[in-house]
Parts: sequence; structure tokens; C-alpha cells
Amino acid sequence: MKIMKFGGTSVGKPERMHHIAGLVTKQTEPTIVVLSALSGTTNALVEIGDLIAKGDRAVAKQAIDKLEAHYQDFILSLLNKPEAVEKAKAMIAEHFEFLTIILKISFSEALSKDILAQGELLSTKLFCIYLEEQGIHHALLPALEFMTIDVNDEPQIGSIKVKLTQLLQQHAGKKFFVTQGYICRNARGEVDNLKRGGSDYTASLVAAAINASVCEIWTDIDGMHNNDPRMVKKTMPIEQLSFDEAAELAYFGAKILHPASIWPAQTYKIPVRLLNTMQPEARGTLIIEEAGSVGVKAVAAKDNITAIRIKSSRMLLAYGFLRKIFEVFEKYKTPIDMIATSEVAVSLTIDNPANLKNILKELEPFGTVEIDENQTIISVVGNEISQTSNIIKKLFESIVNIPVRMVAYGGSPHNISLLVPAAFKTQILQQLNKGMFGLQ
Ligand code: ADP
Ligand code: ASP
Ligand code: MG
Repeated sequence: MKIMKFGGTSVGKPERMHHIAGLVTKQTEPTIVVLSALSGTTNALVEIGDLIAKGDRAVAKQAIDKLEAHYQDFILSLLNKPEAVEKAKAMIAEHFEFLTIILKISFSEALSKDILAQGELLSTKLFCIYLEEQGIHHALLPALEFMTIDVNDEPQIGSIKVKLTQLLQQHAGKKFFVTQGYICRNARGEVDNLKRGGSDYTASLVAAAINASVCEIWTDIDGMHNNDPRMVKKTMPIEQLSFDEAAELAYFGAKILHPASIWPAQTYKIPVRLLNTMQPEARGTLIIEEAGSVGVKAVAAKDNITAIRIKSSRMLLAYGFLRKIFEVFEKYKTPIDMIATSEVAVSLTIDNPANLKNILKELEPFGTVEIDENQTIISVVGNEISQTSNIIKKLFESIVNIPVRMVAYGGSPHNISLLVPAAFKTQILQQLNKGMFGLQ
């Protein structure tokens, strides 16, 4: 059994849905299709939620109506047969009625998750109506019946496996299955999600749960490129990455993959392929245990980073100092990305400033605390790069004139990270493209 996950742009137009149905039905192996919401929908739902939270109900209603009109229009090109169109019309009306009812209820965090879930619920139901119209036997596997996260928002792989296997047994003999990416249930049984871009994570979790032969991530580009194509003109697809390399790139900002999407595939040894829906014949990127080659493969950038420096005159020979600092971050469930220490100070970075105020207050007794907001982590990733000769020389020669606030080298053998002010992001990515990859 294999997994094919299609992102927002891959389902964002009626003709794209026709096209992906063609790609799916070509498969010889039984296939679970994981779908994102149509492109633009989750952003629109975020906006609707924000408007309701602010009490701007009239504007929220306008946004709901506009989104509904988009869907009612979408089905006219997606479907042909009047029964299919009627079915889709009624289904869409039902979901938007739900959003309109929410307008009248007092707003809560849980309700905002219900709003966000509508995107994937709609896209999968539309796709199934289309498959049905085409006479393609299939089954919809509702993600809310098997995809669960625990109190720490961690997916419960054991229980996902059991529930998904049971659901599949109910449809024995069928070859094509469709499920929602991104959405899940939390420990309280409420509708929740795997964070933005989470459909990749769903795909990898489903692949792990059913021990799939491959997890294919179909998107709008022909694989992982050596640099961010949104920032740099000339970039190249990478043929093969190790799980470790891919995980570093995803975590450090390569948007093509959700930051957490690699570990399930890696743990359960499922190959991942990144493929281009618009160009299915392109090779894309294969992600497996082996890196295939040594040296620099790609750079990525992670935004909205805050750097914190704690300077203690008493750190000299003091043990236990780092532990006390780490405990503060642990208490506020705030992961640290980069860290650099000297005899008297430690600098570290976080990407979630939600508890920054409390963290700073608790760090105060340890010494002078300074923060730099609006920083970017630039990660240079490649198998064993930290042991590749001349890498540091080449790296620093490529980025002359860029003020580097921190460097992390040697923590992982596959990653060298630099912290720079966000204003220098594009410039440093471009300079690295030239200096490390010879691309301009
Ligand atoms: P989907 O909607 O299919 O999940 P995403 O927009 O989440 O697609 O991810 C694909 C996009 O990721 C590409 O269009 C590209 O702009 C962006 N991207 C950022 N960094 C990279 C990279 N290193 N390689 C490929 N794509 C990247
Ligand atoms: N629809 C969700 C988002 O836009 C999940 C995804 O596309 O992966 O973030
Ligand atoms: Mg994505």
C-alpha cells in the first residue's frame, strides 16, 4: 500500500483535481490519498476565525459568503452529472451553514480549530464526489476517526495504527482511499490540527501506521531544491537526501516539508518521495536512510527567531548554570534551536516567543539578559558537512559583509547554522547560492 499526498495547489483548481485523480487511478498498488485544503482556503479560514475572535461578525460573514461562492463555482467545472453537482452543492451548503452558526456562538480556541478543519473536510468530500461521478470505487477514511494527538500535541502512533487498520478492514477489497491531511483530534476529543502545513505530517504518520511502501508528497515543485526558490532565482532539485538531512531542512525552514514530517517515515523506514504534480515525469527527490553523497546539499532559512543572551559574571567554572537556564525553557515548553556558550555568557535562540516575558523574568536572577528579536537562522545542510574540508572557509568567504550574530557548528554532523538579522536573509541566501553552489 502506498501514500500519495497532494498539497493545496495540487487540488486548488478543478482541472488539477481531474489531473490528480488520473495520477491516483494509474497506480497498481492500493493507495491512500491524503489531501490538503484547496489553496487559499486555510488562510481564508484563519482570517474568518480572527474576525470572529475580534467580534467583527459582519465582515466575517462577508468572508464566509465569498469563500462559499468560490466553492459553488468550483464544482461547476469539477463535475458534469447533475446528480453529482446537486450532491456537492448540498455538501458545501452544509459546511458553510456550520460556519454561519459558529458566528452566533461565543468564540473559543476550540471553535477556531473547528473552523480551520473545514478546508480539508471540503476538499476530500469534493474529490470523493468527483471519483464517484467517474465510477471509481473508493472509500473516505475520516481523519477525525483515527488521527489523534496527546496532551503534549504529539501524535499517538500506536492508536493511529490500530484505528486506521480497523477502518481499512471495513473496506476490504477497495483499492483507493481518501483522507484529510492536517486535521486530528486532541486529548480532549476536540477537533484540532497538526499546525500549518501539517498535511505532510499526516501523510508520513499514515505511511508509518500502515507500513506503506512509499510516502509520496506531491506539490508544485520538482522536489527539494538546494535553496529557497522564493528568495533565490536559480535553484536546483536534489536527487537524494537522507532522512537526517531532510529533517534538518524541514525543521530549519524548507517550506516544502512540514518541520515534523520526517520522523515517522524515518522511524518506520518508509521512503519519502517529493514529486511535482504539474510535472509528474520529473525525478523529484528521494528521501531514504542513505544520503547518497557527502557535502553541502542545501540551505534553508527559518524566520521569526529571537536570540537571548544571558551574561553571568559567576559562570566562570560554575557547573549547573546551563541546567538552570534550560529548566526555565522546559518549564515554558519552549524549544531552543541554536546555542553558543562562552566562559561568561550563553546565547540561545527560540522560535516561539509566546512565553518570552515569563522566561526573561525567570532568567533575570542568573545575570544580565539581552534579547535580539527579528532574527533568521540560516542552515547549511549536507551529509557530514562539518567534516568536509574547507567548508568553513568557503562558507565564510561566501558571506562577507553579513553581520553574523551566532554560529552553531558541530552539534549535528549535517548542519551548520548561522544567526543573522532578518533584514539580511535574502542577501545571505543569494550569496550562499553563489559561494557554495556556484549558482547565480
Ligand atoms: P503544498 O501546498 O503542496 O504543501 P507548499 O507551499 O507547502 O506546498 O510547499 C512547496 C513550496 O515550498 C514551493 O512552492 C517552494 O516555494 C517552497 N520551498 C521553500 N524552500 C524550498 C526548497 N528548498 N525546495 C523546494 N521548495 C521550497
Ligand atoms: N491546509 C493546511 C495549511 O494550509 C495544511 C496543509 O496544507 O498542509 O496549512
Ligand atoms: Mg505544504
